Amino acid sequence: MKKFGRTISLGCAYLSLAVASMAQEPKALPLPDERYKADILLVVAHPDDEGAATPYLARALDDHKRVAVVFGTRGSSGANEAGAEQAAALGAIREVEARNALATLGITNVWFLSGKDTASQNVLQSLASWDHGVTLEQLVRLVRLTRPEVILTFLPGTFIGEDHGDHQASGVLATEAFDLAGDPSVFPEQVAGPTKRLEPLLENLRPWQPKKIYYFPDADREDIFRGKGPDYSVKEISKSSKQAYWRMALDSFRAHQTQAKSFLDKVAQMDEAQIEKMATSDSFWTEALHFVLGKSLVGGSVTGDIFEGITPGAIPFVRPEVSPEPSRPELSVELGGPYSFYAEFRRAHGLTNLPHPEPPEIALQVPGTLVVPLWVRNRTAKTQEITLSSALPAGWTIQSGTGKFTVGAKQVAAARIEVNLPAPAENAGKKPELQEVSVHAESNGQSIGEIKLRVELRKRALPQ
Ligand SMILES: [Zn+2]
Repeated sequence: MKKFGRTISLGCAYLSLAVASMAQEPKALPLPDERYKADILLVVAHPDDEGAATPYLARALDDHKRVAVVFGTRGSSGANEAGAEQAAALGAIREVEARNALATLGITNVWFLSGKDTASQNVLQSLASWDHGVTLEQLVRLVRLTRPEVILTFLPGTFIGEDHGDHQASGVLATEAFDLAGDPSVFPEQVAGPTKRLEPLLENLRPWQPKKIYYFPDADREDIFRGKGPDYSVKEISKSSKQAYWRMALDSFRAHQTQAKSFLDKVAQMDEAQIEKMATSDSFWTEALHFVLGKSLVGGSVTGDIFEGITPGAIPFVRPEVSPEPSRPELSVELGGPYSFYAEFRRAHGLTNLPHPEPPEIALQVPGTLVVPLWVRNRTAKTQEITLSSALPAGWTIQSGTGKFTVGAKQVAAARIEVNLPAPAENAGKKPELQEVSVHAESNGQSIGEIKLRVELRKRALPQ
């Protein structure tokens, strides 16, 4: 009894000591580092792509917005206008050029994912070459680190003008990160608290749900994007620099010597009046910036200001609403490749209102080959014979892929039709017309689908 009594009293003494010390000295746990908090996170593919948004970024900085930028690649492909360096060495230079370009605006929170600069129009090839999973994990980390209110990125879609698979890939990754960074079950090691004093693995970030995502389309046609988001004039004068926003963007662009030395050398010889004349005669520098609203989790109007509806503070994670799968007949044919991917992507990320050309369009280099990727679905219980035929513009010929073939019961088969594109016409100086290719699919004498694709022939274009 005596021993028991002493144990109890000792235990109580320890307990009251522990409570007293907690009450007297509460320790503040470290909070996220405010130096890296962003209002705007710009996600693009290559050094110099930031130019698609720099006039807007300059305006936002005037409004005391904090800006961070992520590049998917270091831009190691392509010609070097400033020196002999190529490939990875060129990428190392371009990283510094991009940092210097953004530093002219005062933006220093700049990161590069490990994606590889990939010259193709096919977003799926870019995603594969970027190690999609690896770069997505990197981008989700940066969203959680920078806690942006708004993400700005390239429009994930394929049309004439926006033909670089890497640009599209940056828009795909940014959209995925928008939907994933707030989910604590995604890359949970990033949001786990430390278990050791010098924690080497668990990152102690917090989930973060951005509030809005906007896209900038780079398409030749503008009709389908009109009224889908806010426009910003680049001719207004900055409060801080007393220069027009386009002029600040041009100053920032001067860092990109490896991409545009000959142009920049010319600009360096011009006086201010000549620069003004050059820029206003070339709408590239002075046309308004158009954004397309991807989604907003805080309301606001479609064409209203990018920060409309945004108030400080975190919002809860919102799981994207997936639209139902379209109903398909028992036997069907549809465009595959990037086209069917984007249809699934829009459905999975609640982007069913995102504009996309219908029928799809592509610009290709001639002479060359057009590949029409197809999914042929047979949901019946029998093997089916399918006949594919095509209608082509004059002078275009089928290389392979039409004719009869079978698709097994309950199978989905990939097919591809290859079309020879003729050498450039004599009147190639004129703006080429879009020409239509259609593929017709039949089974048992009945049509099971018709696919159309509009094609522009060009002297130069990225590979399909
Ligand atoms: Zn680019």
